[in-house]
Parts: sequence; C-alpha cells; structure tokens
Amino acid sequence: MRNTKGHAGNRRSHHALEELRFSNCPKCNALHLRHKACNGCGNYKGREVIDVMKKVLKKEKKNEAMKEASKQNTSEKKPEKKEKEASLESLSKK
Ligand SMILES: [Zn+2]
Repeated sequence: MRNTKGHAGNRRSHHALEELRFSNCPKCNALHLRHKACNGCGNYKGREVIDVMKKVLKKEKKNEAMKEASKQNTSEKKPEKKEKEASLESLSKK
C-alpha cells in the first residue's frame, strides 16, 4: 500500500510534544509537575510519598564520599609525579 505524504502527515499530526503542566503544591506552594510528587516536600494528593530528608541526607553522604575520593586521588597523584620527576632526574644524571 502506498503511504502518501498526506497520510503520513495525518498520522504525525498527533506526534507533537505537549507543554509541561505545572501546578502549585498545596503544602509548600512550590511549583511541581502535575500528577507528580512535589520535589520540595515530597507530597502528593495530601500525603507524603517521598521521604525528602532521606534523599537530602543520601545526597550529602554521596557528596562527602566524592570529596574524600577526590582528596585521596589528589594526594595519591602528587607523590607519583614526584617519583616520576625523581626517576627522570636520575636518568638525566646517568
Ligand atoms: Zn510541596
């Protein structure tokens, strides 16, 4: 069956993305996506669905872990460089 431009156009007339719809949270009055829990307080339909504090604590823990990891990496990298320099110096002396 031949699929004409018109047919394809008619089919694709329903493919457009809809604009996001926001509404105000009744508890904290922040904007949130409709039919989704509020990001600020984790409430949906008048009850708490998401434990926001737990999420925040988890994020903080993750950030701290990342910071420590980056610190360890930098402290590990510096002596390596020194060793390399030392080896280069010893090579140049020879
Ligand atoms: Zn809220």
